Amino acid sequence: MRAATIAKSVERRPIRAISTTTHRPRLKKILLLGGFHGDEPKSVRLCEKFIDFLTTDPSLQRRANWIIIPLVNPDGYALRKRRNANKIDLNRNFPTKNWICGDRRSRMFGGDKPASEPETRAVIRCIERHKPAVILTVHSISGNRFCNNFDGPAKRLATRMSRINGYPVEASIGYPTPGSFGNWAGVERQISTITLELPSQSSHKQCWADNCGAILSLALR
Ligand SMILES: [Zn+2]
Repeated sequence: MRAATIAKSVERRPIRAISTTTHRPRLKKILLLGGFHGDEPKSVRLCEKFIDFLTTDPSLQRRANWIIIPLVNPDGYALRKRRNANKIDLNRNFPTKNWICGDRRSRMFGGDKPASEPETRAVIRCIERHKPAVILTVHSISGNRFCNNFDGPAKRLATRMSRINGYPVEASIGYPTPGSFGNWAGVERQISTITLELPSQSSHKQCWADNCGAILSLALR
């Protein structure tokens, strides 16, 4: 596995990408994203655990071309806050047709203009450069909820994940998400995009046990 700093956050913290060293053209390219929201540490832990898992078992590195950004929002994470250092919700800052600025005081403020944030631009650049076939973006959600939410042509993959992690498949999270990553990548670019919502009340250990096989299943045809 290879690690690289692909960008710096607003407060100049590194945003790192860890990827498999050998590119195998016959295998899928799969991008995992964690820590879009700094107050969802389970998403970061799951991605880090998956990196450890790939590192300790090189045979897993031959199942797909993996790229993992375990922490998209390091400034928010340092403060355990949802938004980045400019108080912008990165998952509402993508340049989609339905992007809105929204209310500056809201937890879901989309910024003064789309893609205004270095963290958002780092994710966009990574996708434009690597052109992943599949993207898994990991979040967590409270209220005893959890799901495999999908955008774009990812229903089959989300259904297969749900057979392993037992989470329901959902085509919508239940509220509008203008400027969200799922809209940008899945709906508008038609990249198979799954938003994995971990149950925030579950332990790290339980999240890993439920989802390790589900993540690996993304590599299957
Ligand atoms: Zn989130």
